[in-house]
Amino acid sequence: MPDPIKVGNTTIYRIVEQEGPFFEMLKFFPALTKEVLEENRAWLQPRFMSPKDELMLCIQSYLVQTPHHNILIDTCVGNDKPRPARTFWNMMKSDRFEKGLAATGLGIDDIDFVMCTHLHVDHVGWNTQLQDGRWVPTFPKARYVFADRELEYWTKRQKDDATTCPWVTDSVLPIVAANRVDIVKSQYAFNDLVNLIPTPGHTIDHYSVQVGKSGADCVITGDMIHSPLQARYPEFGMMSDYDSPQAGRSRRELFGRFCDTSTLMCTAHFPSPSTGRFVRWKDAFDFKAA
Ligand SMILES: [Zn+2]
Repeated sequence: MPDPIKVGNTTIYRIVEQEGPFFEMLKFFPALTKEVLEENRAWLQPRFMSPKDELMLCIQSYLVQTPHHNILIDTCVGNDKPRPARTFWNMMKSDRFEKGLAATGLGIDDIDFVMCTHLHVDHVGWNTQLQDGRWVPTFPKARYVFADRELEYWTKRQKDDATTCPWVTDSVLPIVAANRVDIVKSQYAFNDLVNLIPTPGHTIDHYSVQVGKSGADCVITGDMIHSPLQARYPEFGMMSDYDSPQAGRSRRELFGRFCDTSTLMCTAHFPSPSTGRFVRWKDAFDFKAA
């Protein structure tokens, strides 16, 4: 199991479902040019970019254990789900997530809240599991925390054309139907230790999650960043952004706020250990693993 992260009196576990090369860099970041890729190759490879110039990604959840609650942030891809557009996630049958959760000493019954930073395929999968041919909430006692405009957007998109977002059909709407959703604003003080911070752009109402108190805190970023390359070049959007310029502004704002501080950044997709801090670099930022 990856080493747990201690933040004040809170423990954070990473639960990894997959890790490896997934997408070609130049496709994944449409604004990235061959020239800029060459300029950055030396530090990107081998850790953040494969020998074939593919982005190295980790697919994982963060399990936040505060003195009051167990909160699972993002729920990976999940099993048994038809994903025709993504062969590497299609009808997965993996016990890695399950084993990763068990290694924390907690089980599905112990999860009080599931927070989805946004409603993309690799962040909602374990929201549900297949039981007797039906999609049911995986975490029987959990409330699921979704941002209002995010849920509204994906509900409409699914209604308009379900084939463009099968994960909404099997991993989001069954949670709504089971009355398990707490709909919140993306700017939301959950309690004195957990705060949602709006980081829109990658999706319409994406949020990040700040955990802890000033001086001993971390930010679980979700997908407001996919590669440390976007710290140096915050304006580089990724291929499935809802609004790339807005995503760039979200990066400048959040990194500007937390760079050169003690706040630990826990990214969704950077390769293990996925965590570190942002520091100033030229007119932007750089990522230092920690
Ligand atoms: Zn993602």
